[in-house]
Amino acid sequence: MTRTLIHGGTVVTAIDTYAADVVLADDKIAALVAPGTFSGPEASFDVTLDARGNYVMPGGIDAHTHLDMPFGGTTSSDDFQTGTLAAAYGGTTSLVDFAIQAKGQALRTGLDTWHAKAEGKTAIDYGFHMIMTDVNESTAAEMGDVVKEGITSFKMFMAYPGVLFVDDGQIFRAMQRAGEVGALICMHAENGIPIDILVQQALAKGHTAPKYHSLTRPQIAEAEGTHRAICLAEMAGAPVYMVHLSAERALMEVVEARDRGLPTFAETCPQYLFLSEEDLARPDFEGAKFVCTPPLRPKAMQEDLWRGLRTHDLQVVSTDHCPFCMKGQKDLGKDSFAKIPNGMPGIETRLYLLWDGGVAKGRISLNRFVEITSTAPAKIFGLYPHKGTIAIGADADLVVWDPKKKHVLSQKTLHMRVDYSPYEGQEVTGAPAYVLLGGKVIVDHFKYVGNAGDGRFLKRATFGLG
Ligand SMILES: [Zn+2]
Repeated sequence: MTRTLIHGGTVVTAIDTYAADVVLADDKIAALVAPGTFSGPEASFDVTLDARGNYVMPGGIDAHTHLDMPFGGTTSSDDFQTGTLAAAYGGTTSLVDFAIQAKGQALRTGLDTWHAKAEGKTAIDYGFHMIMTDVNESTAAEMGDVVKEGITSFKMFMAYPGVLFVDDGQIFRAMQRAGEVGALICMHAENGIPIDILVQQALAKGHTAPKYHSLTRPQIAEAEGTHRAICLAEMAGAPVYMVHLSAERALMEVVEARDRGLPTFAETCPQYLFLSEEDLARPDFEGAKFVCTPPLRPKAMQEDLWRGLRTHDLQVVSTDHCPFCMKGQKDLGKDSFAKIPNGMPGIETRLYLLWDGGVAKGRISLNRFVEITSTAPAKIFGLYPHKGTIAIGADADLVVWDPKKKHVLSQKTLHMRVDYSPYEGQEVTGAPAYVLLGGKVIVDHFKYVGNAGDGRFLKRATFGLG
């Protein structure tokens, strides 16, 4: 047995903040003890980590990533090896990525493809959601088998007609089935049919620059999709989770549903909290760096999303990490914003940005930081209580966080496989001193000391209201 002591730190969970030493036995948390209890000669630890002046928090859980994903005529530039390595550097120890069912194929086929992409390559633990592009009686039946294998959430798209889009009947049927088998439906709630008309009209007028990406995807399209998803879920008697909520009017739909007691959940992403349509309007095609869907919104909306996080109307911040290089990928859309692959890098910078812009700036508490980055995604996606908190018996996935460490975000020093950073040159405060996965140190002061393949597949539990 490997015994590890993390001493001198302040333990932070979604609820509590207290001084304690943390004892690990192999891959689990074995004890939380008063500081200094094991400091004498009786201590016999294989590994001792000094956490004085630091916070000890559960490792980050990113519930929304797209690694090695074919999209828009290309493939997201991080695969399961490079993407999970970058996540580890940034203090994230579990992620849930999206496996895709191709039209006309069984869920099984899509799932096998994604298992093959990830197996043996990841630096951190990983699970899958299943994207359904074709809901029929055969695939609805198959949802039950997929749930038994630990894939307990399904995502569907109201956007991207002809590609990932499914109609309201398919959404409703999948929601009914999700209710029966204990699964959660994740919705990309943006009405893609009128959006496609606006895109064609903009291009016909010669409006080809990246900024037209947001002008052709107004927030009303997201508000309407959100409203409709909530109504369909209510009719089907199933919970629903809005991915990447970006807009104030969409948030109001979630607030109204939650006030009525519906099991409605929503996440937002750092890009909607820290970037805006002004970035999308940067000259000389630089705006292409900021093309993601839903699009970046007016700056004033950032404060609406922060309010939603404080009032618990938004429960989670995940990344929607879906990177594409400017050279050879984003530049496919040089002559038409509609051809710019949609997505931004973010898997590594989530905790940096939320600490610096959230906790350090007084927008959210320390405990709320842990909740939105780890505890809430663990509960909503069936990973709690093994993950998402610091408790005896829980997995020893931990971040020892130095709240004073200053560093500059730059493509040159970040580890995501992409040729730019949306936050280039921004100084932030706060970084991991140590990152532990299953009791083993994998990052030691910005140095990776783990191995590709340390991460295990996570069989997630069915949806509960825990
Ligand atoms: Zn996404």
